Amino acid sequence: ASAAQQPSHSGRRGATDLEKHLELLVVENERLKQELKDAEALREAVSRWESQARPRQKRLAELEQQVLEKASRVETLSRQLEESKRHAEEMQRQLEESKCQQGEVEQQLSVRLRDCEEELARQATRPHQVKYVTEIVEVESSESQQAVAEAQAKSVALQEQLSLQRQLLRELETQLHDSQRTSTQLRAQILVYEGEMERAQGQLEAEMQNLEEEKNRVIEEAFIRAESEMKAVHENLAGVRMNLLTLQPALRTLTCDYNCLKRQVQDFPFMLEKAITEAKQEICQVIGEVSSANQELLRKYKREMNLRKKCHNELVRIKGNIRVFCRVRPVCRGEHDSAENMVSFDPDDDALLYLSNKVKLMTFELDKVFHPQATQEEVFQEVQSLVTSCIDGFNVCIFAYGQTGSGKTYTMEGVAKDPGINQRALRLLFSEVTEKAPDWDFKITVSMVEIYNETLRNLLGDIQGEKLDIKMNPDGSGQLYVPGLTEFTVQSPEDINRVFELGHMNRATACTNLNEHSSRSHALLIITVAGVNSSTGHRTQGKLNLVDLAGSERIAKSGAEGSRLREAQCINKSLSALGDVINALRSRHSHVPFRNSRLTYLLSDSLSGDSKTLMMVQVSPLVSNMSESVCSLKFAQRVRTIELGNATRRQWENSSTSSSPTHDSVEVTYTHTHTHPGESEGRRETHCLAKKI
Ligand code: ADP
Ligand code: MG
Repeated sequence: ASAAQQPSHSGRRGATDLEKHLELLVVENERLKQELKDAEALREAVSRWESQARPRQKRLAELEQQVLEKASRVETLSRQLEESKRHAEEMQRQLEESKCQQGEVEQQLSVRLRDCEEELARQATRPHQVKYVTEIVEVESSESQQAVAEAQAKSVALQEQLSLQRQLLRELETQLHDSQRTSTQLRAQILVYEGEMERAQGQLEAEMQNLEEEKNRVIEEAFIRAESEMKAVHENLAGVRMNLLTLQPALRTLTCDYNCLKRQVQDFPFMLEKAITEAKQEICQVIGEVSSANQELLRKYKREMNLRKKCHNELVRIKGNIRVFCRVRPVCRGEHDSAENMVSFDPDDDALLYLSNKVKLMTFELDKVFHPQATQEEVFQEVQSLVTSCIDGFNVCIFAYGQTGSGKTYTMEGVAKDPGINQRALRLLFSEVTEKAPDWDFKITVSMVEIYNETLRNLLGDIQGEKLDIKMNPDGSGQLYVPGLTEFTVQSPEDINRVFELGHMNRATACTNLNEHSSRSHALLIITVAGVNSSTGHRTQGKLNLVDLAGSERIAKSGAEGSRLREAQCINKSLSALGDVINALRSRHSHVPFRNSRLTYLLSDSLSGDSKTLMMVQVSPLVSNMSESVCSLKFAQRVRTIELGNATRRQWENSSTSSSPTHDSVEVTYTHTHTHPGESEGRRETHCLAKKI
């Protein structure tokens, strides 16, 4: 074996190395992917930065545009300034010229003036000449006179010219003043323009400087970022290169391992065969061990099951096999004769019920009292353990007892929206059985019968109201069976509904008035639960009998005749028989009169042995029903203390003495003490039945 395991060891190591390399490679691959992802993220960041820088560039271009505009404006201004300067120079030049002209004119004028003055002086010096001339005039007077006149005229003309020249001078002076003013104005304007220009230039320079700074900063930042990113990328690249270098030897070892594995795979079939043979041997051995352990477990399980059943029986024995509940129905709409406090409950003890008429207060103690507000669900909660015990193989009977109108049918069947015990029990059985499904295989069958006038009728059969007989099983087991009784196997809640509908329909069509008829007959729903344990083969069979009894009310002697009288007798007989059977069971009589009525006979196997019985006594809250309520409760209270014995083996009576006893014979046989001579067959005896028990 060790020689065979050798190659498998080395193969294992090879595989481990390979796996390690593979893991390394996978990790490496992951890292490379991550780096690639990082580089992509970097590229994204750069593009993001670019997209961020774009508006800045735009702004820069705008600013440059503005600068250009301003520069052109400055140029225009300087051009204007130049023009103004030129204009001013021109004006100055004109001024100079005018001054010059004025000087010349002044000079001319002064020359002229001087000439004139000189002339005048000369003229003045001439009088002597004039005298002389006069004398001469006397000689040549006309000539001199003419000369004087000319001279005078000349002087006047010169005077005029002088004043004209003076006026011109004045005008030129004002002109000069004007041009001087204009020139100062222009100079001031030039100064203003220059100031403005300087300011604009300063602004422009500051703005340009800001922009330049911003541009530099942004460029620097981008550069730094790009540089660091580039550095990271370079590093990554170097890492990747390094990895690639390290991966190459790994790849080489992988290839080597692969070749090694390939060789091992070739050897594998032989190894496998060997291993399989070994494993088979081991498995066989283990299976042997497990099956013996299983056998042991099974033995223990069976022992535990028996113990459980014993414990359960013991528990039931301690608690009593018969439980008696009481349910008080609510006052229905339209009922007016209910009295306050006629029925009352104990707030601390739900087993007590008080009934009071005007005279006295009666106390009844039961196992549980349901007040009128109790819901169907609450009632079912109390009976569900009883229902499920039939899965464990117990036989169970649940009776609804009480006068007509006290709520028996409501409790057992319920209404469509709020079903009673029947439907809830079947549904619960279904869910319980489904829960046990892998280990247990259960079969649930349902029969429905009614007992009317001591006749058993099949409610699920094809023939309406088909009469049935109860017979002893010929196999000698002492078991009873009903030949021809229809049994439906139900597999789903839908099946349940169908069964109930069919039973209801058959019952309704077989009579003229269902309400009346149902109050005078017993309706039985018989559910059989049979199971097989798939691992142990252990079998169980339990039966759940849900009985809606006929009304327990007494009928006045005068009011009963003919068929009504017969009905009353039959109901009386069967309810008395039920009481008698319970009485005999409780007293552990060796003889239990099951055969005294169809009802008790049919239910004999569900009332005897370790069977369980629940009596739900229904009570009406109406004052008019007071005496019947008292009767029902007395019956209930007495039944409650009875136990079904499981110690004594009962003998099934089959003598003719009680095969079809009358009510009287019941009394004679089992009570010996009570006879009611005053109460003939016309009067139903349920109240007496209670006393007897
Ligand atoms: P029984 O079958 O005893 O003759 P029923 O079950 O027919 O009585 O009940 C008589 C009336 O009282 C029916 O209308 C029924 O709906 C009503 N009833 C009985 N018990 C209750 C209850 N607990 N809640 C509401 N109505 C009820
Ligand atoms: Mg009814």
